[in-house]
Amino acid sequence: MLQVKKISFRYKRKTVLNNISFIVKAGEHLSIIGESGSGKSTLLKLLYGTYDLDKGHIFWKDEDILGPKHNLIIGPEFMKYVAQEFDLMPFTTVAENIGTFLSNFYPEEKQERINELLEVVELVAYKDVKVKELSGGQKQRVALAKAIARQPEIILLDEPFSHIDNFKKQSLRRSLFKYLKEKNISCIVATHDKDDVLSFSDNMIVLHNTKIIANNTPKHLYNNPENKLIASFFGEFNEINSKFVYANQLKVVDHSNLKAIVKQSYYKGHYYLIEASLNGKTIFFEHDIQLKKGNNAFLNHVS
Ligand code: ADP
Ligand code: MG
Repeated sequence: MLQVKKISFRYKRKTVLNNISFIVKAGEHLSIIGESGSGKSTLLKLLYGTYDLDKGHIFWKDEDILGPKHNLIIGPEFMKYVAQEFDLMPFTTVAENIGTFLSNFYPEEKQERINELLEVVELVAYKDVKVKELSGGQKQRVALAKAIARQPEIILLDEPFSHIDNFKKQSLRRSLFKYLKEKNISCIVATHDKDDVLSFSDNMIVLHNTKIIANNTPKHLYNNPENKLIASFFGEFNEINSKFVYANQLKVVDHSNLKAIVKQSYYKGHYYLIEASLNGKTIFFEHDIQLKKGNNAFLNHVS
């Protein structure tokens, strides 16, 4: 279990994190969300022991995770960290990079393990390609495979799919998180993508103004977004009678006391997102078909 106890940290002038506490059990997956600059990357770096804490403690089981003042080598044995900028050897092959932390003592086992990892990150065809010839997304996949090669007990991922295109993202995400769950590897992922969170995280914390403003299951926070920041993370939303209502929770009906005037329809594939005006305020709702500008739409709130 990882225990983060009342940690605070500032870069020279600016306090980034203030009195942060949470726990992550063995095999549990936690997401860290928050606006750009809210301290997600800093928090992951602190968990890895990159900087010395100003206050508080971080424990993995009974072991204190200490910063550079107390440690020559940053990063504990049992932990791996995949940064936003990945650290790979450009002039060697994908296979060699993935095998960096694997023992050469049993070469056959090493090759088998590398092949298994290539499958997890869907890079089998690139095994012998030099890393410098890869795209950003492919490099990110190599970095992920390298990090899970020695089966850490806990892995820290900083926006792990940010360079990976939509064609690959969905299947890679399923494959990676499934692998980590099967091996009971704890995982902390900093992300701005709700799809990393909803299906794959046991818990999520929300960082804002140096604090944790929410810590709960994704399901609970989706259903009870306490503020705009949380609601906007999950999707298009409206504030109606001081409640947060997602665009998909407003349905067009024959008559109701919510009468909106259509302004614009945006094609979204299996639905249209409709922008409308309700008592002079802009609102959004979803609808099966396009609606004409200027038409009335009566809305009902369904949950
Ligand atoms: P996030 O990952 O949520 O975007 P970061 O942890 O990268 O946020 O940054 C949090 C804040 O700390 C930002 O205001 C950023 O400018 C600042 N910051 C990040 N790294 C450094 C650094 N090495 N030195 C000084 N300030 C930094
Ligand atoms: Mg970041």
